[in-house]
Order: sequence, then structure tokens, then C-alpha cells
Amino acid sequence: MALAAEGSTAAGSTHGRAVHARVGCAAVTLSNAMLAELLARAGAEADGHRRRAYERAAAAALGWEEEVAELLEQGRDPSELPYIGSGLATRLRAWFDDPPQAPDVPPSRRGFLTRAEVRRILENHPWVDLQAADLQMHTTYSDGKATVAEMAGAARRIGRAYIAVTDHSTGQPVPRGMDAEAAEKQNAEVLDVTAGFAEAGEKFRVIHGIEMNLSPSGEPAISADERSRFSWVIGSFHSSLRTEADQTSRYIDAFRRAGMHALGHPTCRRFGRRPGLVAEWDRVFEAAARADIAVEINAHPHRQDLPVSLARRAATAGCLFSIGTDAHDPAELEHFDFGLAIAVAADVPKERVVNFWSAEDFLAWAGAKTSR
Ligand SMILES: [Zn+2]
Repeated sequence: MALAAEGSTAAGSTHGRAVHARVGCAAVTLSNAMLAELLARAGAEADGHRRRAYERAAAAALGWEEEVAELLEQGRDPSELPYIGSGLATRLRAWFDDPPQAPDVPPSRRGFLTRAEVRRILENHPWVDLQAADLQMHTTYSDGKATVAEMAGAARRIGRAYIAVTDHSTGQPVPRGMDAEAAEKQNAEVLDVTAGFAEAGEKFRVIHGIEMNLSPSGEPAISADERSRFSWVIGSFHSSLRTEADQTSRYIDAFRRAGMHALGHPTCRRFGRRPGLVAEWDRVFEAAARADIAVEINAHPHRQDLPVSLARRAATAGCLFSIGTDAHDPAELEHFDFGLAIAVAADVPKERVVNFWSAEDFLAWAGAKTSR
């Protein structure tokens, strides 16, 4: 059953309300993943503000901490969930009373974990106790809402080992990226913030990176000279993302000429908006592994890019992985667990997740690559 959460807990009933959906011959809990799909479907059939309310609730369902089934079992009201008003709460209850057939999930909403699933995957997992770095985030130097110091302070507070700030390069119309002059100013700020931690006796540090735009043909937006001023270069596609034609060559070309350490949000999918690019993924991953380019697991709940299925294939191909929240404000740094859960679910070996390397080892690897 594609929609059932892996490892779903068996649900009972409350006030005579069944919390089981009968799908095929097996009784399964109506998981939050399934509810997200039902909400998205209901949105597609509604108009105006009701449509938007359903769409917002569908996207929010990925982030709910608890399964709605459990919440109902405890006699609580679904309207305590974000983006669920009394009307939508009634609709949710109705689905539990009379479970609909499992809908066929369209590609743009397929293969997304919910936070409730993430919590189950990471429960008692040894990686949760390890310190890890967050290797993609944005600041006020491009489209982020917080400063370098604010992002660093927030990441430190939630236990990150170190972070890389990776504001957008120029070369894409939206958002406006960072030019060479701004990058130099940001570098000084990065050094300053890191010095501040050192003075306070903390090992925490900020690494100066960039999310460099790649053209649809794999052309990097900045020159080798400009790239060499950053310690960490993520290359990402941000245009021609809806084409259905095979895009293997844009990846291979980018690996060959773009001088980057990691491929950002590799498929470029977005929940409910676009299914992501099509490619011969095993060839792409083999090329990345050969070029020693890490593939990102973008931890934003609406991206989850790579998804578990592709992360597994990238692991088989021998790739390195970098997890990044792609946070645009301090609160989004909390999304890190989605990336961790994807790596765990895909059986990625721990030593291939560069986030677990010490800052020294990480910089030594990245620096050796830059000077090649
Ligand atoms: Zn991006």
C-alpha cells in the first residue's frame, strides 16, 4: 500500500469511530501521508479560498508532528493542527468514519515523508545523538530572512556541529543573488561570527559557501576564479524544471565543467507543484561519484530531494551525500531531521554523509577539490 506509513502503529477507535481504512484486503491506518493526498484531491475539486485552504492543509500535513489517527484516539480535535479549521476538522473526521479508497498519488506528490514518519524512522536511531553540520542555508545576502549571525546562533542552539551559508549566486532572475563584492563582505562577516564563537570558547564555526546557479545546459553562473573564493560550492538548477525530456546530459555536463562540491536539490521537485527532472539516474549518480561530487539530500519538507528511492540508488553508485535544510529563516533549520530520515531510510552509510565529518576533514576534502 503505497500511502500507508512504514511502521505505522496500529490504531484503535474512539467513541466508536473506526480509524482504519480498508484498502484491498488489509486494514491500514489512515496515515498523515494519505490525509495529505486526500486533502490535495479535495482541493483540486474545490474553488477559490476553499481550494487554497485544502492545498495549504495538504502541504502542512507533511509537517504535523503526530498522526491524526493517534490524535483522534486520544479524543482530541484535529483543529488543534496547523491549517485545520473547524470545517477541515469535520472533513478529516468524516474520512476516518468512512475511509475512502486509497487514491493514486500523482508524481508531484509521490515519495514524500511526513514528520510523523520521520520521527518513527529516527526513533532510537544512533545518528540522532551525533552532531552533524547543516550544509545549505540562505541569509539576507540573497533571499533569506536572517543574518549570518542569526542563522549561526540558531543552528548552534539546536545542536548543529557547524554550518555552511550558501546564498544564491547571480545568474538567475529571482532571487537576486550575491555579486563578488557582496560575497567578499559576507566572507568577512562569516570570519567575524566564527571568531566570536572561538572567543566564547566554542568550536562552532560558519563555512563560507554559495549556491551557484547552473543553466539548463549545465553552465555555471560564476567563473573558476570566483568559485575559488568559496570553501563550499553547491551547483543547482533553477530553470527549465518542468520539461519531461530526459535531462541526463545537463547533469553530466555540469559535473564536467561547473567545478562544484555538491549538486543541490538534484531532481528539483516541489510537493504538489512539479515532479522533478527526468534522467537516467544511475548514470547521473555514477558520474557524480566518479567526479567526487556529493549529491544533496535537501531536507525541506516540500522538497525532500533526493527522495528515499533515489538516495538508495545514489548510495549504490558510491556517492557522497550532503544534507542541507535550505533554510531561509532560523525556524526552517529544524527541518534537518527530514534529510537525516531520508538517509537512514535509504541505508546510506554514515561515512558517506559529509555532514558527519569534522569541519577540518570537510574543509580538507573540499579544499583539495577546489585546487584540483
Ligand atoms: Zn536552490
